[in-house]
Amino acid sequence: MCGIVSYYGKKDSVPFLINGLRRLEYRGYDSAGIALMEDGSIKAVKKAGKVDELDKKIKEFPIKGHIGIAHTRWATHGEPNDINAHPHQDKSGKIFLIHNGIIENYSTLKEVLIRKGFQFKSQTDTEVLPHLFMKYIKLGNNLLQAGRLVLKDIRGAFAFVAMSLDFPDQLFVSRNSSPLAIGIG
Ligand code: GLU
Repeated sequence: MCGIVSYYGKKDSVPFLINGLRRLEYRGYDSAGIALMEDGSIKAVKKAGKVDELDKKIKEFPIKGHIGIAHTRWATHGEPNDINAHPHQDKSGKIFLIHNGIIENYSTLKEVLIRKGFQFKSQTDTEVLPHLFMKYIKLGNNLLQAGRLVLKDIRGAFAFVAMSLDFPDQLFVSRNSSPLAIGIG
């Protein structure tokens, strides 16, 4: 099983997120990634391999932000490589999302999204989620409303966290049969 960590606060989130991923390493994983929101954009770094390698890459190409999401992946759909590593994003780069578990009906959802013109970059089941979020946001929903509609579309055991440039003061988190803890400090 993999791990997800997110941070919303006043400090730079990188140390919190990397430390959180390290604490979840015992669960086993094959790749790791992080996305941070800062100054009107979201930047992601993803890497097959260990959290140490992700940390090294972040030190080479520094990113920072006070809102962030981070993930260790245990591949179920698509090989463990940099592209399939989380976070996954929509085409506009406004929605980024990390996910644990399996979206059981992803192939049907993917077919429908492709017919509507959405383009997929990874082989994961996860990637349907950011595209579904964007579909509903484009229809005029806020992040919370879009997330609720996404939940009606999907089946499976999962936990996920989504962030959106259009709603910079929010994170959408959800779980079904997978654990997810929220801390307020
Ligand atoms: N099913 C997703 C994937 O293959 C998430 C796997 C996980 O729980 O890490 O990317």
